[in-house]
Amino acid sequence: MVESRQVLVCGAGGFIGSHLVRRTKAEGNWVRGVDLKFSDFADTEADDFIIGDLRDQSVCERAVDRPFDEVYQLAADMGGAGYIFTGAHDADIMHNSATINLNVLDRCYKRNIKQVFYSSSACMYPAYNQTDPDSPNCAEDSAYPAAPDSEYGWEKLFSERLYIAYNRNHGMRNRVARYHNIFGPQGTWQGGKEKAPAAICRKVAMARDNGEIEIWGDGKQTRSFLYIDECVEGTLRLTRSSFEGPVNIGSDEQVTINELVDLVSDIAGKTLHKNHVPGPLGVRGRNSDNRLISEALGWAPSQSLVAGLEMTYAWIEQQVRSNTGVRAD
Ligand code: NAD
Repeated sequence: MVESRQVLVCGAGGFIGSHLVRRTKAEGNWVRGVDLKFSDFADTEADDFIIGDLRDQSVCERAVDRPFDEVYQLAADMGGAGYIFTGAHDADIMHNSATINLNVLDRCYKRNIKQVFYSSSACMYPAYNQTDPDSPNCAEDSAYPAAPDSEYGWEKLFSERLYIAYNRNHGMRNRVARYHNIFGPQGTWQGGKEKAPAAICRKVAMARDNGEIEIWGDGKQTRSFLYIDECVEGTLRLTRSSFEGPVNIGSDEQVTINELVDLVSDIAGKTLHKNHVPGPLGVRGRNSDNRLISEALGWAPSQSLVAGLEMTYAWIEQQVRSNTGVRAD
């Protein structure tokens, strides 16, 4: 029987944070969440939840008021391509997320907490290695010379260096993961901050059979998508391992966006025409390189994309029905 831990989840009202709260609670731990808001989709299972702004140091002091066994820092100003690649939110993204990381990490250090998990992103990889959709290079050691294609990616790179610097200079044991496109139920599915799998599930759910859906770009750009449960599993395994990272947590099942649309359409049982329209896209190709995580943790995500999409589509279709009254037929 594992002893109960005291766990802090920053960003606990968000997609990954709320799943992490559920999982760590199910393990029998005492869990505190902190976020600007509660989850939009389910009541929190945290024992304690602070609604507060982690840019504010006094909120960090309130949140980090004890020597937590585990701290997960997931709070960030983020969204899908429609939010992070247009340039319209760059100053907010950099300022808000960097301030949160500076505050939370330093507060943990001063509270003598030895370890914080930090969620970086595949968006920190250099754009020049992701121009070929068929063979992107996202090996962890390909990060430099740095050239992320968004300010979101630059902030992630700065912050992952910050966590590692505290390890070097302050004897901490922070852990850094680079998440690759996490998806699943209870993620943002409308409003502008949703990411490709959720947006596509919504569009497919709202479309009539034999109708059409809009896809940003030519749909030939490649990505991989990791189901939320595997993301949480990898996060816990990394945190509780002796490996510092940075390490990719992602799927290596690469698909084009057109293929993703076809998979979702098949799940929905619909035939749909793809209407390719201009839109913010990001890099041409990206896939998780899982060699390092397999080597370091003896584990890597393995669930098929279609299995995760089936669960996600079912949830989003339900949201569409109850939120818009649109019949998903
Ligand atoms: P999310 O937007 O659902 O969750 C982030 C949460 O942070 C939100 O609930 C938000 O309210 C909270 N937050 C923002 N500013 C805050 C502040 N000033 N004070 C307190 N809380 C604040 O995002 P997510 O998908 O759950 O992502 C979690 C983390 O993982 C983020 O750091 C994100 O950059 C990283 N990540 C996610 C993905 C992905 O595909 N979801 C990929 C790579 C990296």
